[in-house]
Amino acid sequence: MNEEIHKKLAKTLSSKRLKHSDGVSATAVRLAGLYGADLEKACLAGMVHDCAREMANNILLQTAEAFGILVTDVDKREPILLHAPVGAVVARRDYGVQDPDVLQAITWHTTGGPGMSLLDNVIFLADFIEPGRSYPGVERLRALADNNLRDALLAAYDQTLEHLMAKGSLIHPATVAGRNALLLKPE
Ligand code: FE
Ligand code: FE
Repeated sequence: MNEEIHKKLAKTLSSKRLKHSDGVSATAVRLAGLYGADLEKACLAGMVHDCAREMANNILLQTAEAFGILVTDVDKREPILLHAPVGAVVARRDYGVQDPDVLQAITWHTTGGPGMSLLDNVIFLADFIEPGRSYPGVERLRALADNNLRDALLAAYDQTLEHLMAKGSLIHPATVAGRNALLLKPE
């Protein structure tokens, strides 16, 4: 089934995005192995996570509305953030993905959020550190991801928030809630 999905993704996504998706999938499998998440779910979720990433803003907004996805004021201003929850809808509708764990991991991969599962966290982190990523701090994040999942997640949230603040950008409430949840959780 994954092969068919990959073929379909190859027709839909740019080659750059497909390569990124393959990188996230492979990295997610590696992290799943390290931390005990389901390897097959990690492989699939990584592959499909950005299936809605190249949809136009108005389509993202329309699809979110049509499927009852909560659209915050931040999403209205930055509709690209909706590619994650809309991606879960598209993964189910257009790619036949039915596993709720996989769909949930797609839903939270961009903003993060509170109450994330191990699989959700693996996909969230794999998206930051897949081999095609290059930005200041990525090596540190990769090293953390190999050693301590919580430290790596916290660093990923911190880096996201610092980056958004430096740009004067809006911050999605789920990102703040996700970081808080991580800090509040007893280790
Ligand atoms: Fe994405
Ligand atoms: Fe991605």
